[in-house]
Amino acid sequence: MTSTEPSSSVANDLSSEVSAIYLNKNESGEGSQASPESASALAPAPANNEEEKVDSASLSLMRKLTRTHLIQSKNEVEITRNDPKSPLHSVKSFEELRIPEELLKGIYEMGFQAPSKIQEHVLPVLLSNPPSNLIAQSQSGTGKTAAFLLASLCRVDERENYPQVLILSPTLELALQTGQVAKQMAKHKTSLTFRFVIRGVDLARNEKITEHVILGTPGKVMDAALRYRNFDTKKVKVFVLDEADVMIDTQGHRAQSLKIQRALSPNCQIMFFSATYDDNVMEFAEMIVSNPLVLRLKREEESLENIDQFFIECNNDFDKYRALANLFGTLTIGQVFIFCQTKKSAAWLANQLTKDGHSVGLITGDLTVEERTQIINRFREGVERVLIATNLMARGIDIEQVTVVINYDLPVDITTKDIDFETYLHRIGRTGRFGKAGLAFNMVDSPRALDMVKKLEQHYGRKIEKLDASDIEKLEELNKE
Ligand code: ADP
Repeated sequence: MTSTEPSSSVANDLSSEVSAIYLNKNESGEGSQASPESASALAPAPANNEEEKVDSASLSLMRKLTRTHLIQSKNEVEITRNDPKSPLHSVKSFEELRIPEELLKGIYEMGFQAPSKIQEHVLPVLLSNPPSNLIAQSQSGTGKTAAFLLASLCRVDERENYPQVLILSPTLELALQTGQVAKQMAKHKTSLTFRFVIRGVDLARNEKITEHVILGTPGKVMDAALRYRNFDTKKVKVFVLDEADVMIDTQGHRAQSLKIQRALSPNCQIMFFSATYDDNVMEFAEMIVSNPLVLRLKREEESLENIDQFFIECNNDFDKYRALANLFGTLTIGQVFIFCQTKKSAAWLANQLTKDGHSVGLITGDLTVEERTQIINRFREGVERVLIATNLMARGIDIEQVTVVINYDLPVDITTKDIDFETYLHRIGRTGRFGKAGLAFNMVDSPRALDMVKKLEQHYGRKIEKLDASDIEKLEELNKE
């Protein structure tokens, strides 16, 4: 599969793998204890809860399942090292790394041509000898997973039939997803074998794992390593902690990961990856990774340049809906994102627009990750032109072709009850890579909302122009831009 193929096929593969594992469990009839880490991501949020709760693991999974390509960064990688003697260089091509031919073939078939920004630095560090420990941080989508998979697969000696690489992910679904990528990468290295150690996979006491690479979640791997002794931790050459920031959000994962790490050989190479870099994550990193090189790629800042922003005054809900209908009627707009503050208003709007003949997707925290992924992919493929989402969902969505964003409700911070600047930027801002021009419309239905628009103008130093939604001429002008 290439990286440009629709990722829905990954979602399908993933779901068949999940069902296969559930099936496996049912057939065996052995009631393995479900680890707490695995329960969250597929379960829908409680239906009658007004404020949505979406956990970071399912947002991360959504991003992965809907992403089609690499996020390029213009920022430079910052490097901190404890040992100034440790080797440091970067590469501009995969050939320079002298990795096995079969793996090279695998990554080329995945559509990779050259290392991403973070990979340029991470790969030589991870492949150098003696192996160095690494803490790497860069935003999601910049190529971390591909980097640690490539580097760790290179370390396997396939003549030895025991686990040599141990990869921990925060949830079953994320472990499966990483496994899919690993298998794709190793497509031409058929002697490499993989084993999932996750909920639904039962291992008997003392049953020996013979596969080279274990992909698992902390609770299940801890049981397999320390309780049932399914593999020898001292023989593991590479230990990867992926999505460490999501990991520490889940109770118990920090302690379980530490226990696993303590059982490894002191020579085991440790690779620690995170999308964020706050104190909590770094504290955890320091507990788990000794003498590391720290590589950091700052996230691309979103900006409001290239975005024409408007506000439309509406007297009541009826007016608000009519203004929206006018926009739809006049603008020959491509893909549109509409944001609502609550699930209730999002559902109402979706229903209303559908009744009026528009094909609309609705995405809220009530849906399972798979359902959300399906909706995002349909939208991306153009099956639906309009996607309505609530605030929290916006965090898990990264859709580049959207050029029109409508804030049906302005984003409000739950605690201050005032405008939420960061969410506004996240909803309509673009990073340099998506340099395309965009249009943003804000529905203003109260003096309070108008005040928030003024605050946005001040805060970002950019004009938000008043628009009369019945001014056909003006709307047609926007069409041309
Ligand atoms: P992260 O782990 O940082 O979220 P991934 O490794 O999942 O990032 O990569 C994000 C996307 O970019 C994936 O679709 C992946 O296949 C693709 N990708 C990764 N590295 C490269 C590369 N060097 N060239 C092209 N695409 C890449």
